[in-house]
Amino acid sequence: MRKPLVVGNWKMHGNTAENAALLEGLLNTELGTADVAVSPPSIYVAQVAEKLKSSAISWGVQNISAVDKGAYTGEISAPMAKDLECKFAIIGHSERRTLFGEVDKDVADKFVAAQQAGLTPIVCVGENLAEREAGETLTVVGRQLGAILAALSAGQVDGFVIAYEPVWAIGTGRTATPEQAQEVHKFIRDQLAAISAELAENIQILYGGSVKADNAEALFTNPDIDGGLVGGASLLVDQFVAICRAAG
Ligand code: PEP
Repeated sequence: MRKPLVVGNWKMHGNTAENAALLEGLLNTELGTADVAVSPPSIYVAQVAEKLKSSAISWGVQNISAVDKGAYTGEISAPMAKDLECKFAIIGHSERRTLFGEVDKDVADKFVAAQQAGLTPIVCVGENLAEREAGETLTVVGRQLGAILAALSAGQVDGFVIAYEPVWAIGTGRTATPEQAQEVHKFIRDQLAAISAELAENIQILYGGSVKADNAEALFTNPDIDGGLVGGASLLVDQFVAICRAAG
């Protein structure tokens, strides 16, 4: 049985004081039974690791390089994230794809790098508004997912997470309806099932895109939605706690 998972993506927000206050708030509150993780900007991973090391909350990074080390100024690698005891690496977030030009091949390379370093990649897929309105949602998601599934190790049945994040719902306040989200999650699970039933059964598929306290439960009660990848609302203790509780 898949365990619900809620991951906070802090994006490029926070400072040491704000991070400390946010983490204190989470540590001092009952979060429920879902697995919970946060992804701070990488410069703050050490601070977060120190704060959370004795807790049940895990942590990760928002991006990694596809290579382990070398002359790549400004990059951080999967082994570096692992060194800081990160559990997860978000891969292929739509902001990486649209603002930093990452294509499916880059995302697949990062997926492999994360797995080789012992991190669990959280692979983001999702269509933009024009693609949805053109009826291309499943084609786009299928293409993005296909690049990842082609990079799986032989016989792999777990070790990664998928996040369906419709680009038009990220940071916009506009959420996919539970029906729209479930349709795409089911499609993703069917693609996994085409490889193996065990893979489809094991892989958590998170929904992301303006998840808030007041819409989380309606999304998470769908059979193929295993939790959320949460941006803006993960910066607010009350919101994030309510979302975690809605998942578990
Ligand atoms: C995200 O950053 O992955 C995200 C889903 O953001 P928001 O929740 O703010 O839409």
